[in-house]
Amino acid sequence: MALVNMTEIIVKERLEELLKEYDCCKCEICFMDMLAVALNQIKPQYVNTKKGELLKRIDAVSKQNSVDIDIAIIKAIEIVRNSPHHENKEEG
Ligand SMILES: [Zn+2]
Repeated sequence: MALVNMTEIIVKERLEELLKEYDCCKCEICFMDMLAVALNQIKPQYVNTKKGELLKRIDAVSKQNSVDIDIAIIKAIEIVRNSPHHENKEEG
């Protein structure tokens, strides 16, 4: 048994999904920044449950909150894209 924040799992998955549509830096620093910004906007939902049950709950929660979660993630992507926490060292 472990304590898991279901919101974190869902947001991580949705962020990876939504980032495919964005032409922005997707390095680990930016990804973690986006994750943090998004998670700070969404109420965490901690559960103590077995793995099988967890998956069912994730499904239920992600359907309930999917619009709110997407809005928070898109906001986070745009915030980090506009001011990444690292120098722009990418040169092709
Ligand atoms: Zn980056």
